[in-house]
Amino acid sequence: MPVKIIDGKRIAKKIKAELKNEVLNLKKKGVIPELAVILVGENPSSKIYVKNKEKACQEIGIISKVYTFGKNVVQKDILSLIFRLNRDKKINGILVQLPLPKKFDTKRIINMIDPEKDVDCFHPENVGRLFLGFPRFFPCTPAGIMEILSRNNLKIAGKNMVIVGRSNVVGKPLAVMATNADATVTLAHSKTKKLKEKCLWADILVSATGKIGLIKADMVKQGAIVIDVGINYNKSGKLTGDVDFERVKRKAMAITPVPGGVGPMTIAMLLKNTIKAAKDNI
Ligand code: NDP
Repeated sequence: MPVKIIDGKRIAKKIKAELKNEVLNLKKKGVIPELAVILVGENPSSKIYVKNKEKACQEIGIISKVYTFGKNVVQKDILSLIFRLNRDKKINGILVQLPLPKKFDTKRIINMIDPEKDVDCFHPENVGRLFLGFPRFFPCTPAGIMEILSRNNLKIAGKNMVIVGRSNVVGKPLAVMATNADATVTLAHSKTKKLKEKCLWADILVSATGKIGLIKADMVKQGAIVIDVGINYNKSGKLTGDVDFERVKRKAMAITPVPGGVGPMTIAMLLKNTIKAAKDNI
């Protein structure tokens, strides 16, 4: 069977069309979802991500407000803004674009966000709820991956999922969500021994490391599903994932490309969370 190249852009477009309808229905009830995005410093990638989020909100009718701080801002000012946004009844979602410049206490800033408005699902209360199986929100990238699988009818119950990368943003929450969905999960990282052997066990292999070419064809089981979360730039400045796409696609049953795989889904899930927050607030 030929490999299925999963078109994340197309799935995200479909989800956005569905969400646009939800926003129209909310508007009939006098509710317009509103997202506040806080951008601190000069990180060029962060600026692009924030622009893309803003554009996606506009496309489906969510109001998005971006609060930009130069790198010389003091932490107290960011906390005061979050305090104000928490109390603002019109604002449904608040997100702080990460990473913050090193001098800031990221944990303290994230913990300040009202959990009911924490559409990134980074607040400890929301992470705890996810872990315990009564989630308020699902974190955007893992939710995007789960959505890619379900919308392609790729079942995960009973399957072996190997996730390479254990960050709080991708690997760890995905491990929890996949476990709750009855997959058997291995969570690998830079200290994992015999990574190749473990990857070969995977019916579903997810890589979220930020290391170009880490996942090679000899680490992939024939017929596996391969999800590439990595966003890297190679020496010639080309956007590329963690997976050796050209060789791995010859062994995989389905594979996500970079760009056009997980990335667009992450933003779609942010929109979904913002609408959920607006609905929960009615
Ligand atoms: P982090 O840097 O926080 O985590 C990277 C993880 O990869 C760590 O757990 C690290 O292990 C592990 N790792 C690094 N090198 C190896 C190796 N050689 N073998 C095995 N494991 C390794 O990254 P993020 O989770 O934030 O992001 C990962 C990638 O995904 C990046 O490229 C990022 O840009 C991208 N990304 C893409 C998104 C999307 O929407 N498509 C969203 C979020 C991230 P250890 O813990 O031991 O250090």
